[in-house]
Amino acid sequence: MANQLQPVRGTKDLIGEDAARHFHVIEIARRVTRLYGFYEWQTPIFEDTRVFSRTLGETSDVVTKEMYTFQDRGGDSITLRPEGTAGVCRALITGGLTQTLPQKVFYAGPMFRYERPQKGRYRQFHQIGVELLGAVSPLADAEVISVGWRILDELGIAQDVVLNINTLGDAQSRANYRNALVDYFSAHADKLSEDSKLRLEKNPLRILDSKDEGDKKLVENAPLIYAHLTEEAAAFYDGLKSYLTAFGVKFEENPRIVRGLDYYNHTAFEFVTNSLGAQGTVIAGGRYDGLVQQMGGPTVPGIGWGAGIERLSMLIAAPRAAAPPVAVIPMGSEAEAEALNILNLLRSKNVAAEIGYSGNAKKRLERANKSGAGFAVLVGRDLQLKNLTDGSQDDVTPETLVERLCA
Ligand code: ATP
Ligand code: MG
Repeated sequence: MANQLQPVRGTKDLIGEDAARHFHVIEIARRVTRLYGFYEWQTPIFEDTRVFSRTLGETSDVVTKEMYTFQDRGGDSITLRPEGTAGVCRALITGGLTQTLPQKVFYAGPMFRYERPQKGRYRQFHQIGVELLGAVSPLADAEVISVGWRILDELGIAQDVVLNINTLGDAQSRANYRNALVDYFSAHADKLSEDSKLRLEKNPLRILDSKDEGDKKLVENAPLIYAHLTEEAAAFYDGLKSYLTAFGVKFEENPRIVRGLDYYNHTAFEFVTNSLGAQGTVIAGGRYDGLVQQMGGPTVPGIGWGAGIERLSMLIAAPRAAAPPVAVIPMGSEAEAEALNILNLLRSKNVAAEIGYSGNAKKRLERANKSGAGFAVLVGRDLQLKNLTDGSQDDVTPETLVERLCA
């Protein structure tokens, strides 16, 4: 069929086991974040383009190469969200919540980036994430990291994942560190990639993040930030580490985790696995105390993380399917009305139940057996509960039926 419509490149249908894995991840994340006092928000999947261009930085890869940006019919520039933090901060401001802090937000939903599709990399993908807005203590950072760890643990993958943490310091620490980096990389400028030569002028920290092999060699011996931290920044980082220990979360310090943008400070972290090849980061996050202000709001500190659901889905074991609904079977068409009463009764008592749309009683029973349902209810002159696992069959009343199925 030459004419058959195909899904757009880089998109994927969530059906069958893919759907089961996907929604399992969201369910676990929803439940665990609630335990930590987070509330779910849902912001629009498209925003004024400036929500992202201002916050992600006009020169970032996401903004320059990956955004789905278009003019709508009214001539406004609209962008499909490439990540979740900017929208949540925009909502905090426009919802008038910057005086009602802290806000602890959980979200789940689709994100869009125009990238070359490959394993674990799509153009429409999905993220879960949390943002904790309005807290300056490293206790908040540790809690945000801890809730991420707990989600990985409940998904059964914590043992395959290592938490890497780092500090980016405060503004003064970064200025000190920036000078040290400029000195170091300027002395080796001839060996830097073209991209990194530009970064040397604009944002030397981003050289540490370079994927170029030559750059990586130079980065190995580059100075570390730790010697350049102010006393306050060092104390914040020490605080983070002792709170993580108090929460029982193991970590490794990794000085190579950086965030290129100015509004990031203090904590940066990633949960990394080596079971996904090159796409090994499963949760990435950090502190962004300057972001809300950058968006035109007051100074509101923030810390959060985002995680790709597709990548988490690949790591988890297939979730156990829920038991198929109880099959309600009318013994002949004259029993249909009573069968519908029983169906309504069961559903009203929160027992999952369904009725077939065609076929005689024998056919329906066959189908119920094939579906894997545990029970069938045979509705005729009398009411019977059939255990489809062992084949036993008992007379019941509506009351005892409900009791048996709710047990
Ligand atoms: P990468 O280095 O893999 O491109 P990134 O730095 O762009 O990642 P973030 O912006 O930090 O990623 O997004 C957080 C998470 O979202 C990633 O760790 C990943 O799990 C997921 N993610 C990002 N881009 C994609 C994509 N195109 N398809 C699927 N998942 C993605
Ligand atoms: Mg990317």
